[in-house]
Amino acid sequence: MDDIPITISIRKIIFENFNDDDLRFNNDQIFEILKQNKIIESSLTIDDMEIYFKELCDSEILRNIAQNFTTQWFKLFESLNKVQCVSCKEDSYLISSENKICQNTSCGSSL
Ligand SMILES: [Zn+2]
Repeated sequence: MDDIPITISIRKIIFENFNDDDLRFNNDQIFEILKQNKIIESSLTIDDMEIYFKELCDSEILRNIAQNFTTQWFKLFESLNKVQCVSCKEDSYLISSENKICQNTSCGSSL
């Protein structure tokens, strides 16, 4: 378990699996990948993830298009771009309208 914020891990998963603005995907699919890759504690539930998906909706990365009980369906407003930071070599996953700043919280360099 490392210190990468969960929203950054979710952005990476979206980039690697669902990076198409025509595609529908849901929180359960991303939650499964987070668990399979041991990115999150196994004790966490889908409800614990809600704040992170809300954050991504608030930053207009994700659009919540439907909800069925705890399953939330999303689409991307636009596909994410992977940008490697020159300074720390970490990858950031950003949409075109976002500030080009490294998402590694201990770095924060301009990209
Ligand atoms: Zn950086």
